[in-house]
Amino acid sequence: MRKPFIAGNWKMYKNAKEAVALAKELKSNLKNIKDRDVLICPGFAALCCVYGEIKGSNIKLGAQDMYFENEGAFTGEVSPLMVKDFCEYVILGHSERRQLFNETDESVNKKIKKALEHGLKPILCIGESLEEREKDKTFDVIKNQLKKSLKNIKEIKNIIIAYEPVWAIGTGKTATPEQAEEVHAFIREWVGKNYDSEAADNLRILYGGSVKPENAKELMEKEDIDGALVGGASLDAESFSKIVEF
Ligand code: PEP
Repeated sequence: MRKPFIAGNWKMYKNAKEAVALAKELKSNLKNIKDRDVLICPGFAALCCVYGEIKGSNIKLGAQDMYFENEGAFTGEVSPLMVKDFCEYVILGHSERRQLFNETDESVNKKIKKALEHGLKPILCIGESLEEREKDKTFDVIKNQLKKSLKNIKEIKNIIIAYEPVWAIGTGKTATPEQAEEVHAFIREWVGKNYDSEAADNLRILYGGSVKPENAKELMEKEDIDGALVGGASLDAESFSKIVEF
């Protein structure tokens, strides 16, 4: 069956020293965890130090974004080759990137292709806004994001999908396990139709949106929820460790 996958998105928090301290605490708390994958995604400036801290442990490292070119005059951007030095995973299409930095399904598609080309495993984030949910457009939005972000991408086996309803990110509002499960099942069905049933069965679909130690278990118990992408609660070693151990 699918191994649970718990990822922490540290967003733009923690300088290098703070990030190393948090990674150290997590390494110790989670040293005996074998039955689930644990990923942390610090900011770019802390990746190198955190890489050194967790090397040889059971914690994996990811970046929060990357650019879709290998190198060039792209001031401020981070190349997949730079990410690849330290990371196995990269979050792409996070709703904060979409809302605040004009990320589109088209740029996400280019980034996924580039990440795969370099052996990086993308965590593709998709999700509807509150307005879209209230207008009953959730499934249309999800279908459209999947179609455009995964356009001409055959290699689905190294991709993880995170369903993150925008209205639940950093708001304290969590989708109910039933609301989340309904969308996760829809995503799996879409992958089954557009790839094949093996790809759909193996695909790990994470839920993200105000996951906390108090609600992790009931979400993870749902059949199509294979883990979590955790923002706020991943910044504290105790609460993230509790979520990992749900
Ligand atoms: C996120 O950043 O992907 C996220 C889900 O944030 P939070 O857990 O704080 O809602």
